[in-house]
Amino acid sequence: MKTRAAVVTESGSPIAVLELRLAEPREGEVLVRVAAAGICHSDWHLVTGDTAHPLPAVLGHEGAGVVEAVGAGVTKVAPGDRVALNWAPYCGTCFLCKKGSPALCRTYVGPLWAGTMLDGTPRFALDDGRPVYHYCGLACFADRTVVPEPCCVPVPDAVPFEIAALIGCAVTTGAGAILNTAALEPGESVVVLGAGGVGLSAVMAARMVGCDPIIVVDRAAAKLEMAADFGASHAVAAGSGALEKVRELTDGFGADCAIEAVGHPQAQATALEATRSGGRCVLVGLAPMGSTTELDTARLVREEKAVLGSYYGSCDPERDFPLLCDHYASGRLPLDRLVSRRWALEEVNDAYAAMLSGEIARGVIAF
Ligand SMILES: [Zn+2]
Ligand SMILES: [Zn+2]
Repeated sequence: MKTRAAVVTESGSPIAVLELRLAEPREGEVLVRVAAAGICHSDWHLVTGDTAHPLPAVLGHEGAGVVEAVGAGVTKVAPGDRVALNWAPYCGTCFLCKKGSPALCRTYVGPLWAGTMLDGTPRFALDDGRPVYHYCGLACFADRTVVPEPCCVPVPDAVPFEIAALIGCAVTTGAGAILNTAALEPGESVVVLGAGGVGLSAVMAARMVGCDPIIVVDRAAAKLEMAADFGASHAVAAGSGALEKVRELTDGFGADCAIEAVGHPQAQATALEATRSGGRCVLVGLAPMGSTTELDTARLVREEKAVLGSYYGSCDPERDFPLLCDHYASGRLPLDRLVSRRWALEEVNDAYAAMLSGEIARGVIAF
């Protein structure tokens, strides 16, 4: 069959929207008609070349849609099912899965990072037959895509596709940092550095938990203006003076928990300084591969600060996607507010320009 898709043909070039061939799903695979896909920063790293990946590749790892067909042996979903796509499928039987860390499962990362299905081959191809690779096994910037069965998580009718799509990455990553990694409790203070889709999801989750104060730090004035809508009690402009302001708002000690959702060494250092003694500093943003942040380890010991990495919100998608859907449907997590703007697939480069400018919370490609 044919599908239209947003493709990185070579790093440094604009994203191209091309008609591709798409093969039928094989054993253990699912054909999904994509309904919505979120504009996330991670895809951009393929465009710039910061993430090495076989090219050409179809972008998109934050999506939702309807199952159209299933390959042999698929039992988890059936045609007609509405699904959110999970970019970190897990096996459930390995050492890390059994330790309760399915987000850290390594069983499938080989083929997924190689841009293929789990059998090591891609389903997309150019007209001349040359292969086109799948980003994160999802490649959901496409009308139709084929994904591994473990990536499909059924979602209830009450959750619109664009919300289900965001639950597939930004919401789970941000809210999960609050609910799972940091396990924040009512009354705890939190500072969130970086108010993109992930940071604002963390803010909404902190509000739901009853954290206070909830301080947002960002360099974009537009983000600071929107922070209150998501439940922030205070918004602070990033840069000189930000740390003092955060301490002022937290009795002079810093926050019980700092969430770094930027992925920049300088912001990580600020997050650690903004954490009170005995508090926890959660690193959520992915810094460029190989970058490092200096830690004053003597202070870390004396001040008993915990530094925690949080990958995909320390989630179990099978448990957490339905839970987040529930929080949304009951009004506890107002995830609609994240969707600032919708674009057509053909406008994908405009959507990324808007994301990079910092003017939107989250953009969505609507199919
Ligand atoms: Zn993402
Ligand atoms: Zn596993």
